[in-house]
Amino acid sequence: MTQLIDLHAHSTKSDGLDTPTELVRFAAEAGVATLGITDHDTTDGWAEAFRAAESFGVDIVPGIELSTHSYTAAGRKISVHMLAYLPDPSHPELRQAMSETKDGRVNRAKRMVELLAEDYPISWDDVIGAMEPGATIGRPALADALVRAGVVATRSNAFESILAKGSRYYISEYSLSTVDAIRLVRSAGGVPIMAHPLTDLSQDHDGSDLPLAEFEHLVEVGIAGWEVQHRLVPQVARNWLTDLAAKHGLIITGSSDYHGLLGKDNRLGENQTQPEMLERIVNQASGCEPFLVR
Ligand code: AMP
Ligand code: FE
Ligand code: FE
Ligand code: ZN
Repeated sequence: MTQLIDLHAHSTKSDGLDTPTELVRFAAEAGVATLGITDHDTTDGWAEAFRAAESFGVDIVPGIELSTHSYTAAGRKISVHMLAYLPDPSHPELRQAMSETKDGRVNRAKRMVELLAEDYPISWDDVIGAMEPGATIGRPALADALVRAGVVATRSNAFESILAKGSRYYISEYSLSTVDAIRLVRSAGGVPIMAHPLTDLSQDHDGSDLPLAEFEHLVEVGIAGWEVQHRLVPQVARNWLTDLAAKHGLIITGSSDYHGLLGKDNRLGENQTQPEMLERIVNQASGCEPFLVR
């Protein structure tokens, strides 16, 4: 029997297409024994995932994927996603940061819809009418509206064209700085693990000139580790990240970043985290406990 550990997945509480219950059921069917539920900027899916965990026999590691930003050495602003495992979900500053980020995402999505509506038959009502009330909004919801309007065939088609960074409809989202997010997650007793690092590198990057100073600064600030086995992380970056984690005694993880069957190609359990790495996450956490049913 397979006993996979997959620590990164999304539900309808953000931009995934499965409810937390469906997510846990599909995880069980995919042989995932331990699932991380990590919706963007919200803990709203945890309670339902815990209830489903009992029914389907899956252990849950509750988490959040926080939107943050950093700057490259050349001064370019980049988006960095920070997974926060096992934080205290009632920590006031963490709740405040999530709520500001979610509100910022709504404003940004509204502005993008205004631009899109100049050229395409979509409206804000179409966008939110199809979402679960209160869910964290992102470009996937805009992509879904474009699919429903017949403008593009799939979410991915929208991301490759109309919604791509650099498109005239693209607006960047409000977020915390990466450093502030790491400190905040630690103060909430959580374990900060960078999601899908270095995905901007081209797949054939030669590995020179990687941002060592920037990563070592995050280590000083308290980052616990990073996701290495993820379909968007180029191989040269995986090697570099693995070596750098070993040098600093950090945690590395592997995950699917599943968003639903039609949400993205990512499939539950396609990458896994080693049991000893999960154990280190649990040992470092003081915000809450994993929800164990097995
Ligand atoms: P945003 O956070 O609003 O900028 O949108 C980025 C989100 O869109 C990420 O969380 C991804 O999971 C999702 N996403 C990125 N690329 C794609 C794609 N090609 N197809 C579907 N979803 C995507
Ligand atoms: Fe997402
Ligand atoms: Fe992400
Ligand atoms: Zn994700």
